[in-house]
Amino acid sequence: MAEQSQIHSHITHLECSLSGETTGHELPHRLNPKNGKPYLARYDLATAARTLTRESMAEREPNMWRYREVMPVIDPANIVTLGEGFTPLHNANRLGRHLGMSSLLIKDEGVNPTGSFKARGLSAAVSKALELKQMKLTMPSAGNAAGAMSAYAATAGIETHVYMPKDAPVANQIECVAYGANLNLVDGFITDAGRISGEAAEKHDLFDVSTLKEPYRVEGKKTMGYEIVEQLGFEVPDVVIYPTGGGTGIVGIWKALDEMEQLGWIGPERPRMICVQAEGCSPLVNAYKKGEEFAEPVQNPSTLAAGMRVPAAVGDFLVIRAVRESGGTALTVSDDQMVDAVRDMSTFEGIFPAPEGGATLSALQMLLDSDEIGKDERVVLLNTGSALKYLDVLGPALGL
Ligand SMILES: *Cc1c(COP(=O)(O)O)cnc(C)c1O
Repeated sequence: MAEQSQIHSHITHLECSLSGETTGHELPHRLNPKNGKPYLARYDLATAARTLTRESMAEREPNMWRYREVMPVIDPANIVTLGEGFTPLHNANRLGRHLGMSSLLIKDEGVNPTGSFKARGLSAAVSKALELKQMKLTMPSAGNAAGAMSAYAATAGIETHVYMPKDAPVANQIECVAYGANLNLVDGFITDAGRISGEAAEKHDLFDVSTLKEPYRVEGKKTMGYEIVEQLGFEVPDVVIYPTGGGTGIVGIWKALDEMEQLGWIGPERPRMICVQAEGCSPLVNAYKKGEEFAEPVQNPSTLAAGMRVPAAVGDFLVIRAVRESGGTALTVSDDQMVDAVRDMSTFEGIFPAPEGGATLSALQMLLDSDEIGKDERVVLLNTGSALKYLDVLGPALGL
């Protein structure tokens, strides 16, 4: 067994996700200034593999920091945690039987601190901000990311500024205020909020932790990939269905699979990655269908799933690549389909999913109907959040 002291981050550098140029991890970075594309963290995986073994996992803490060697925080004293990650991977037997399937699984991210998987990304980003002495953060957010940032910043004693479209779910607005963030409601879309947050960052010397523009949120989200594989006894499922906004989760899971192969946890096999977006906001699906590498921004994004109301994604090409390389696909579902799926997942499984989580079930039904997913395949749905954060929009949709 490895000594506790040997278990530490093996981060080596940041690498531009488009050009491959490298830079150091010791200073704060955002996008590659030369091409405006995200940097991704790289690790010395050969050395990490000596302690980050499959066997070692049984003794690790039950949260996402169990994968410490492939996380970016160097001094453990800087880890800002509320116990995020290591969420259950449920066998959805009743729902599976209803759909005629033999192996349906739901990864329930709704049980994370702050009620969504945004906790993973923000635990990583706030921890790294603390390590890099960035004590004033700002962020544009459709909702859940702002709540998560505000909670982690609160426990770390970091100042935060949030820019949120004024139609963001009420729960997100209230939680930010409760956590002591400076909440600014924006009359516009998340892209407008992003512009204003960027301006505020310049003017008041704030560090903007917009996803993928900041390199470490994706490191938090990638742990979903590690967990799925670990929870399946170090096997890879056939299909992963992901409700996609900016796509950080899909990029992260894809990165984790690559790292796990280098760590010797898995072989070259990969799940088909399915990107689901809302009919009213589907820039990545549009680009995928047109055979393009980058996505055109959507003009008037509209969906009740706030987390998928993202008209332009800085990591567009990374999502599209992951879908293509995996042999997966990309498709849209309507808000009505999502609401029906929220009801189905609730009544069959006792999991009350965010509309985004519902979208994965709607997509599964469509892909079963078109025979693109087989009834005996092992399928993982990512329920990315709890419906309790969406009562103001879901109540009326469910007829209350
Ligand atoms: C943010 C969010 C998403 C989209 O996540 P990305 O990784 O940015 O694509 C999906 N579901 C919920 C509940 C979210 O909060």
